[in-house]
Amino acid sequence: MSDPIALTVQDAVCLFDVSPPFLDRVLSGARRRVLRAVDGVSFTVRRGRTLGVVGESGCGKSTLARMIVGLQPPTAGTLRLEDMPRADGSLGRPRVQMIFQDPYASLNPRWRVGDIVAEPIRELKLLQDEAAVQARVAQLLETVGLAAADAARFPHAFSGGQRQRISIARALATEADVLVCDEPTSALDVSVQAQILNLMRRLQAELGLTYILISHNLSVVRHMSDDIAIMYLGRFVETGPAEEVFAAPRHPYTRLLLETIPDVQRPNRDRQPLSGEVPSPIDPPPGCPFHPRCPQAETACREARPALEAHGGREVACFLVR
Ligand code: SF4
Repeated sequence: MSDPIALTVQDAVCLFDVSPPFLDRVLSGARRRVLRAVDGVSFTVRRGRTLGVVGESGCGKSTLARMIVGLQPPTAGTLRLEDMPRADGSLGRPRVQMIFQDPYASLNPRWRVGDIVAEPIRELKLLQDEAAVQARVAQLLETVGLAAADAARFPHAFSGGQRQRISIARALATEADVLVCDEPTSALDVSVQAQILNLMRRLQAELGLTYILISHNLSVVRHMSDDIAIMYLGRFVETGPAEEVFAAPRHPYTRLLLETIPDVQRPNRDRQPLSGEVPSPIDPPPGCPFHPRCPQAETACREARPALEAHGGREVACFLVR
């Protein structure tokens, strides 16, 4: 039997009004301008699994992450977290936390690490007794590979990888069920990246965490994800089990993205570059939004937008696949 669903997103839309001020518009005759950051995204994530969301900068993946954790309200659509079993056997509202790209910017430099990790425990009143809070902080720091004595130090005393461990400890302090990880390793050295990813995998196995992993690094996503969603101009263009998508991508954009991954087995293989820039989400091209960059575009691609449709266990938005 498959795992229960942890998160359901249905037709999520996030628009930003980037128009000039009203008076300027009246005087200049300029039209209203709307940036479609997320443009009708639907998916589910099962408990204990990792969904990797991949796309170039500006495709809307970080806005989607912020919507899931509640930092950005959706303009339309629904995002629903299913109740999770608690330690006492009851069902409770799931807790969602975010791990940010820059661990230093997300930690208060004036607070000691112990207070940073203890803050959500105190705010959510998860433990009443201060001695129990301190014991829990020490346990969390050891869980993420730090020492209990590190609670007395300030964030600036730690390396980038250690700061990301503190961020993870703080997220776990809330007894989070779902972690939204927005480029969690892209600010770190390559050797440290592997340590943080391995830590995340271990914690997922031990605690049954559900991850939404946002990244432009395809190697990281491949290493971590059970399922993958390829995002382009605010929409998913291909979704499916990560291994299947990496082995045989169907959407032309996915194929070109995967071409960019270095292959040490075939360093001299012919690679087709992904040319052109991502079009503006304020003024997306008509028809298939990928057609200005697609080597297989046909006339129909310029006239109508392909819907995301099921094809053999995957979903793909491309006329050619249909
Ligand atoms: Fe390319 Fe046309 Fe498919 Fe869009 S619908 S990805 S333009 S072939």
